[in-house]
Amino acid sequence: MKDLEDWKGIWVFIEQEEGCVAEVSFELLNAAKQLSEKKGGAEVTALLPGHGVKGLSQDLLSYGADRVLCADHPFLEKYLTLPYTRVIGDLISERKPEIFLLPATSLGSDLAARVAIRVNTGLSAHCTHLAINPQGELLQVVPAFGGKVMATILCPKHRPQMASIRPGVYRRGEPREDEGVVEDVTVDLHPEDLKQKVLEVHWEKKAAQGIEEAEVVVAGGAGIGNGEDWKWVERLARVLHAAVGGTRPPLDEGWIGEGQMIGQSGKTIRPKLYIGVGISGVIQHVVGIQDAKVVVAINKDPRAAIFQSADLGAVADFRKLLPLLVEELEKAGPFSR
Ligand SMILES: Cc1cc2nc3c(=O)[nH]c(=O)nc-3n(C[C@H](O)[C@H](O)[C@H](O)COP(=O)(O)OP(=O)(O)OC[C@H]3O[C@@H](n4cnc5c(N)ncnc54)[C@H](O)[C@@H]3O)c2cc1C
Repeated sequence: MKDLEDWKGIWVFIEQEEGCVAEVSFELLNAAKQLSEKKGGAEVTALLPGHGVKGLSQDLLSYGADRVLCADHPFLEKYLTLPYTRVIGDLISERKPEIFLLPATSLGSDLAARVAIRVNTGLSAHCTHLAINPQGELLQVVPAFGGKVMATILCPKHRPQMASIRPGVYRRGEPREDEGVVEDVTVDLHPEDLKQKVLEVHWEKKAAQGIEEAEVVVAGGAGIGNGEDWKWVERLARVLHAAVGGTRPPLDEGWIGEGQMIGQSGKTIRPKLYIGVGISGVIQHVVGIQDAKVVVAINKDPRAAIFQSADLGAVADFRKLLPLLVEELEKAGPFSR
């Protein structure tokens, strides 16, 4: 691709549902701001497709956007791959952003792949870190080969440089007073973009306490073995007023919901205390707990990798340890933090 220098600025796709901006969008605005500083103050643009959502712009300006591009159309009210891809693809071709960040949520992952193909560029999915090299290019860090290496990816010949980032990897910045620009853009949809239709929307019940906000998280792994014994993870969580999380096998078994899986393709958490029970500690999981203040691991195998990430470890069968621990904590009375 010629004329790479024509591509300027950093864009962030703003994910919103029913007029409520997803927290990860604020996190990505903060990431974009940090990248912008490394690039001598490149403009940060929040790309906001939807219907009747212009009122969200002020918040986006307060949390890092220099400009909001508001693409308003009734067909953009609920997310659909084809019209969103059309609008975003056209805007990218017209305005040429150098970097485009999207959340690695279900919606963002679906959209990012389509848009990358539409504008003929690459995409690094599920990044865990972003940086700028001395040449001003975006470095996109992704765990690869089952987590054995952290791959740093560059997109030297195509623009925009596109990356999707998991919720929780960055934090929302401090609000600021700066003035910015809110711009309405023309939405030009084609008949072939309107083949999909939303018939009904079902909202999934959220876990009682979101693991991303929880100060204490008790997580279980495949080592729990069966749904009956999972109650020990929940009992320990209850007595500690903790949120319950887990690895992929408990999700596959239906012991936890989608929003409770921790790791590369799940949530990134920052609790004061994380207790992992029956978890081996592969990189795809521990990448989600690296910001936990204190990590406690309970595993019957002394060679389990989780002990390398732990501040405190117990080599034990959870079936023996957890009943004793829960009993002692219950005896100790209400747990306060
Ligand atoms: C692209 C990709 C993305 C992925 N993303 C994620 C992700 O986001 N999150 C995630 O978690 N996984 C993810 N995975 C899956 C990941 O690779 C592992 O398969 C998974 O994390 C292993 O879960 P586990 O530690 O619970 O199970 P295992 O690896 O099977 O470990 C079970 C552990 O329990 C211990 N144990 C057994 N019995 C007991 C007992 N009675 N008492 C105490 N300890 C006991 C064992 O010693 C063992 O260490 C991903 C994989 C891929 C390929």
